[in-house]
Amino acid sequence: MIYPPRCMSCGELTKADFGLCGSCWRDTPFIGGVVCESCGMPLPGEADGHRIECDDCMKTPRPWQDGRAALLYDGKARSLILALKHGDRPELARPAARWMAQAGRDLFRDDMLIAPVPLHWSRLLKRRYNQSALLAQHLGRETGLEVCVDLLVRRLKTPVLDGKTAAERAETLSDAIVPHSRRLHRMQGRDVLLVDDVMTSGATLAVCARACLAAGANHIFVLALARVAKDA
Ligand SMILES: [Zn+2]
Ligand SMILES: [Zn+2]
Repeated sequence: MIYPPRCMSCGELTKADFGLCGSCWRDTPFIGGVVCESCGMPLPGEADGHRIECDDCMKTPRPWQDGRAALLYDGKARSLILALKHGDRPELARPAARWMAQAGRDLFRDDMLIAPVPLHWSRLLKRRYNQSALLAQHLGRETGLEVCVDLLVRRLKTPVLDGKTAAERAETLSDAIVPHSRRLHRMQGRDVLLVDDVMTSGATLAVCARACLAAGANHIFVLALARVAKDA
């Protein structure tokens, strides 16, 4: 059977596989232009050759070097991510990882190790796959960098973080994420790129970054498929 290529958002026929039709492309909020070097948030103004950071990152420095995101978590991007996360559409991870490779092009380093933000096993059973691990695997293929899907694991079942403040999230997450005891050697002295589907406050990524640093990793970078515009 041969299926004609279709837009992965609306299902319209398109020219190429794993893409968006023209109208969905225009309606998808890709992040471009000047961004915060730390969290990938789009910023007004023009690049002047110096490091630019948003107010949040200047106020509370991130435990990682640089961060980027491909999309703003809004409109069509939001529905694509929800489809990837809850809609059992793992095939969306491939084009999504391609966008992430583009958005994260300044982050990649030689011998970097890519690792996803871990999902608790009970949630893994319910969802059948960890969307961040899927993104990490595809990103590895796009960049040629090594991927370790279980570099970090969740020790406790963490409650859903939506609707919590940054402080509450940090509290809930501290000690919840630890390196896999048999994967410790893989990050010794190496730069690690943490991958997540959505970055909100960055609390989960911060916990992951600290866990990697404590375990002997060199520099940590973060790359998300989408960035929530402002922590609610
Ligand atoms: Zn479309
Ligand atoms: Zn920032």
